Amino acid sequence: MADVDPTVDSPDVIVVGAGPVGLVAALKLARAGRRVTVLEAGAELSGESRASTFHPSTLELLEELDVAAELVRTGLVAPLYQYRRLGAGVIAEFDLAALAGETAFPYRLQNEQNNLTRIIAERLREFPHARIVYGSPVVKVEDAGDRALVFVEGDGRAASWTSPWVIAADGASSVVRKSLGIAFDGITLPERFLVISTRYALEDEIPGLAWVSYLSDPVDWGVLLRTPRHWRVLVPVGDEESDEAAVAPARVQERLKRLVPKDSDYEIDHASLYQVHQRVASTFERGRVLIAGDAAHVNNPLGGLGMNSGIHDAVAAVDAVLAALDGADARRCAEAYSLVRREEAMQVVQRAAQANYDRMQERDPVKQKAQDDRLAATADDPEATRNSLRRSSLMTSLATSTRELRRLTDAARRSPASPGRRLSELLTRGPVVAPGCHDALSALLARQAGHQAVFLSGAALSIATLGLPDRGFLGLTDLAAQVARITSAAAVPVVVDADTGFGGAEQAAETVIALERAGAAAIQLEDQVSPKRCGHLPGKEIETTEAMVAKLAAARRVRRDALLIARTDALGVLGLPAAIDRAKAYAEAGADLVFVLGVKDAETLREVHRNLPGVALVLGRSEADEHDVVLPPRATLADCGVELVIQPVSALLAAAAGLRDAYAATDADRGPVSVERTPWTELTALVEE
Ligand SMILES: Cc1cc2nc3c(=O)[nH]c(=O)nc-3n(C[C@H](O)[C@H](O)[C@H](O)COP(=O)(O)OP(=O)(O)OC[C@H]3O[C@@H](n4cnc5c(N)ncnc54)[C@H](O)[C@@H]3O)c2cc1C
Repeated sequence: MADVDPTVDSPDVIVVGAGPVGLVAALKLARAGRRVTVLEAGAELSGESRASTFHPSTLELLEELDVAAELVRTGLVAPLYQYRRLGAGVIAEFDLAALAGETAFPYRLQNEQNNLTRIIAERLREFPHARIVYGSPVVKVEDAGDRALVFVEGDGRAASWTSPWVIAADGASSVVRKSLGIAFDGITLPERFLVISTRYALEDEIPGLAWVSYLSDPVDWGVLLRTPRHWRVLVPVGDEESDEAAVAPARVQERLKRLVPKDSDYEIDHASLYQVHQRVASTFERGRVLIAGDAAHVNNPLGGLGMNSGIHDAVAAVDAVLAALDGADARRCAEAYSLVRREEAMQVVQRAAQANYDRMQERDPVKQKAQDDRLAATADDPEATRNSLRRSSLMTSLATSTRELRRLTDAARRSPASPGRRLSELLTRGPVVAPGCHDALSALLARQAGHQAVFLSGAALSIATLGLPDRGFLGLTDLAAQVARITSAAAVPVVVDADTGFGGAEQAAETVIALERAGAAAIQLEDQVSPKRCGHLPGKEIETTEAMVAKLAAARRVRRDALLIARTDALGVLGLPAAIDRAKAYAEAGADLVFVLGVKDAETLREVHRNLPGVALVLGRSEADEHDVVLPPRATLADCGVELVIQPVSALLAAAAGLRDAYAATDADRGPVSVERTPWTELTALVEE
């Protein structure tokens, strides 16, 4: 991780695990223009030989990511697959060409999963905002409400990364799943699986052998799969046989010859054993963390469903995350993903894998015959064949789950996140600059200029609407009405300066209720004695810490999603140490952000941050200050915990100058004064949007 600074990189999404599932998610995010970081425990991509079958449904998804062609080029196209009974030959043969009119990939593609990961890792290099960080074993992930905290081994206690979203694809032993306390119930199959790889052409011994063949037998059942380099054979190993005995060369020869008889020995490239589990996580989401692939569900390898359904998870997880990043309700998007993909894992993947497992080792001759007859009848009926092919290649279930996820995320878009949640989301992506506004037009112009949030300044409002100085003349009703006008006109989160909260704790609570109802995304309360004075005016009085803490506690109890900003005016009156003490107390009382008014330089900002580690800060830049504040660079702001920068009166001052000049220009005695005027059509277009 040497060349990576997590605080500066601040990805939109962290993916844990660079297996096929994690990398598909990363590529889809990168192609959508999102910043994505993949944290991979290994020093490089895994070269382990595992999944080798890609179904048409998965190839279609990979085609959308522009990697299918390369995978097909390096793989084997296998349109046929066979069900055989040991000693009795083919029971049924299925040809995926029957789906030629429905998919661009009417075949199974036999290729190694590590070819897919290699292709994607290379492709990711084309995206400057995407990266894989090797040697980064994640040890824990915590959901922190509007973001997730990711802890990487060796980084001490502090979170190594924070991100609005995490997609955990860290495999069956998922540390992320465990650290979130998500149950992984199911079974471990009694037998282990022996995987044998040979370069020998098995079709020389079994003429007409399809490249994917399932052999049924009560004892010697197994799967024969051709990959670009090998034939791979999977057979069960009973619990009476030790690992050593099962992989002994003579025993491996014997097992292989029982399935594919041959006079001489096979040349064996590789033989290994693995334990098989069938488990599904109790949920696929925990707040901002979505789990996918083997981390969420595992099954036996019969039917080639693990990686394929995991890739389907990856695509669905990204669709849910993208909807949320685009403003849909984050909670509902996460829940939609979990609901849809968990249902798929339980009802389709687990059931199909279990049915394959049961069928291949059926001992009862009557049942054997019945199932063989059913398979043969299906293969003889073109419509039944197509249905069966659609099901076994996960085309039917992918179409259903994609449709269902879209329906749910569309609903989450229609009830978009509350203004408070939208602002929280924005703040997680780095410091947000909120220029001041005072009415609907100024907010519309700020949004038109590309600002993602605005600050409704009490001073600007008092001056612009009452023609009075900022000394507490504005009432709650006036303020709430103005907030409602602004929020109904301009689709931009509004941070509202609510002064002292118009009294004590009870009034502060009422203020929060009224302003949030009017559409405020964040509400700022300050610790001046009421009636207040403009923070930049001399002679202000500060209330006790306890009184402000009581206000914040009351505000917190009633707020729904709006963020609470606690402003302390103590710096100019009591000095920096007192201001820091108050800021600490306010953060502990539950303020989401703390604003130490009067911080004017990077050194003081650093001092505040040093004393308030982990507290989100607001920095104010106001022309009302005697000395202008020089904003540190963005990276320094983020480094110092600054999430929001407000510029309360800049726009009002510019507007006042514009109005002054315009009025001056209408005075005939002063001769022709040219002033710039917004064309009428442009102004009306702005308010008609
Ligand atoms: C022998 C065998 C044959 C199979 N055949 C098929 C098949 O034909 N078709 C099919 O669909 N499926 C098959 N499967 C299943 C398939 O291999 C898995 O479903 C698939 O690998 C799951 O991908 P994944 O990305 O979720 O997890 P993985 O492939 O396990 O990848 C997880 C990644 O996360 C990394 N990681 C783990 N922990 C951490 C951590 N704490 N921090 C950071 N990184 C971490 C790992 O290093 C790894 O790179 C087979 C499996 C086996 C064992």
